[in-house]
Amino acid sequence: MHLDPFELHRPLSVEETVRLAGQWAGQFDYLAGGTDLLPNYKMHINLKPHVIALDAVAELAGHSLERVGAMERLAVLERDREFLSTYPAVADALREVATPLVRESGTVGGNLLVETRCFFFNQSYFWRASLGFCLKADGDRCHVVPQKERCYATFSGDLAPTFLVLNAEVELAGPDGRRRIPLSELYDARGDGIRRLTTRPGELLVAVHLPPESRSLRGRYRKLRVRPSYDFPELGVAVAGRWEGDRVTALSLALGGVEPYPRRFDELTAPLVGENLSEDRLKALAESVTRAVRPVHNTFLLPDYRRRMVGVYVRRAVTEAKEGTAA
Ligand SMILES: Cc1cc2nc3c(=O)[nH]c(=O)nc-3n(C[C@H](O)[C@H](O)[C@H](O)COP(=O)(O)OP(=O)(O)OC[C@H]3O[C@@H](n4cnc5c(N)ncnc54)[C@H](O)[C@@H]3O)c2cc1C
Ligand code: SF4
Repeated sequence: MHLDPFELHRPLSVEETVRLAGQWAGQFDYLAGGTDLLPNYKMHINLKPHVIALDAVAELAGHSLERVGAMERLAVLERDREFLSTYPAVADALREVATPLVRESGTVGGNLLVETRCFFFNQSYFWRASLGFCLKADGDRCHVVPQKERCYATFSGDLAPTFLVLNAEVELAGPDGRRRIPLSELYDARGDGIRRLTTRPGELLVAVHLPPESRSLRGRYRKLRVRPSYDFPELGVAVAGRWEGDRVTALSLALGGVEPYPRRFDELTAPLVGENLSEDRLKALAESVTRAVRPVHNTFLLPDYRRRMVGVYVRRAVTEAKEGTAA
């Protein structure tokens, strides 16, 4: 596999970046660490003639407890002990993204915007050609759920569920200016699965903002994958909460790895706030989340198994978050 030629642009500021984005509208991709984009390019998936590299844009770098720049490397965050102890769910997720080598290049922005995955999509051009391609690249039908309108590729980033339960916001910049939205609104749950984000044309992710209240939450992230040293999540469960004894005073839960977008379950956790989180209530929560998700057969593990594991992982993650159990 080889990379086809493209024109590389290397802006120095956010303003210059979005100007280039306006100029090459629809004909470019942003490049962060490249650990997701470049393997896809090598497989000739949705190639663009222009690539805008973000590594020299100073404003996208660095992190604090309040703000994480989109270009911050996962490995740099992973080495910040204060950040890890403040946000235990994020710490769990960071340690389990890919391999240490990938985390040296991979960035927070790239992780939040990582392309969705499917057994029929993450394949070489020749493999996909032999099957007749699919909706998400070069074709007009889905091989997983046979129809021609919707893609069910799975959102497989580890960080998104953990930032979702911390009520993170994202700062975006585009040809029409800057804005800040809740991370939960970044993912297009009503889209067709191909358009998977609510971003406007050319919009760039500048940073993730974490509200001060999120620092007092106890959290946990539990990930199911085939090879613990390497693989994408087949399921990821993030929890953040506050407890007074057995009484829960704040609770949020989010899942990744099972559907085309990461998803919070506020409608199921909100009624528990103010209650004692007994074994029975926790079991009922786990069962409700299990009923609410619909994995399809496009990753390695069977959807029925992944779905059954949702309940197991929800109970584990909530219990461990409450107890503050170390990973
Ligand atoms: C072997 C292997 C295993 C992996 N395992 C995991 C895993 O277990 N968990 C996991 O979460 N990921 C995994 N990944 C995927 C990937 O490495 C990570 O998600 C990584 O964090 C992606 O970051 P990046 O900077 O390399 O993104 P890139 O590849 O540079 O970009 C990813 C996407 O985001 C867009 N993008 C990047 N930054 C911005 C920005 N600031 N604004 C707008 N768009 C942007 C790009 O255009 C591209 O579409 C794995 C990858 C490999 C190769
Ligand atoms: S879910 Fe269907 S359309 Fe989407 S990548 Fe897989 S085969 Fe293609």
